[in-house]
Amino acid sequence: MRLRALAKINLGLDVLRRREDGYHELRMIMQTINMYDQLDMEISRKPGIKITTNLPFVPVNENNLVHKAAKLLMDEFDIQEGLTVDLQKFIPVAAGMAGGSSDAAAAMIGVNRLFHLGLSVKELMERGVKIGADVPYCLLRGTALAEGIGDKLRALPACPDCYVLIGKPGISVSTKFVYENLHANQLEYHPPIDEMLEAIQWHNLNKIADLMGNVLETVTIPHYPVIEEIKNHMKDHGALNAMMSGSGPTVFGLFDDKKLAEHACEALRESHLARTVFLTTVFNNGGRRK
Ligand code: ATP
Repeated sequence: MRLRALAKINLGLDVLRRREDGYHELRMIMQTINMYDQLDMEISRKPGIKITTNLPFVPVNENNLVHKAAKLLMDEFDIQEGLTVDLQKFIPVAAGMAGGSSDAAAAMIGVNRLFHLGLSVKELMERGVKIGADVPYCLLRGTALAEGIGDKLRALPACPDCYVLIGKPGISVSTKFVYENLHANQLEYHPPIDEMLEAIQWHNLNKIADLMGNVLETVTIPHYPVIEEIKNHMKDHGALNAMMSGSGPTVFGLFDDKKLAEHACEALRESHLARTVFLTTVFNNGGRRK
């Protein structure tokens, strides 16, 4: 069984406060894009979960989120058979695009189907949060408001169709570092999430682009100026707007014109500012899971 695990970007990301337990209370506008990892899953007679992958630095043991997700369901339903998963990764790793969480979501869908567990998406989402805060959203997909630690979800009307240029610089940014340096309870800047919700209701792409904002940039950009350089490069080449996704370092730009987007993509490749450059589109709620 072949499944696609789609990446996400954040059109808006606000941090409301740091909770007593150390978690951050977030308010995010999530958007799935047509950039994906591919999972080939099969039942095997040999018990256990065996993962293979194309990237040598991604764990294939119980630390892989695919393993955790599959094991969670297989233990609950006392499944005696084994599972093999070949994971082909194309979503940049540790990049703010929820690659691992989306792989976990796809693995849950796969186990549910292969072993005929009969769980609804809602029931998978309730279990998925145990793997990671972004997993329920990766099961829901499309355009959504995520609150709490990212697990309280409200599906939104689809974001208007547009082109999304992805540029990930060749640096690693630790999510832990970003949140530790945010000083969440003394923030002066908050992205306009409520106005963004209205712009999505009105299906107004220009307004959505104008209102994009990510509070985590206040930490990353001073430390990693290349993020700002990629944003400026995209804007200089016709992006309606450009912003960092999640805790970075991936930058995305929105375009309403295909030719312009292709030209910006080519120019970004030639600039060598980004190591991964990829042009794609937004994925909307109406689509059925493949
Ligand atoms: P988020 O947007 O949720 O912050 P991310 O893009 O920062 O996610 P991931 O790509 O999901 O981060 O992976 C972060 C770490 O998790 C990696 O460094 C890797 O060691 C580990 N990991 C576990 N399972 C996976 C997986 N299936 N794919 C990628 N990384 C995985």
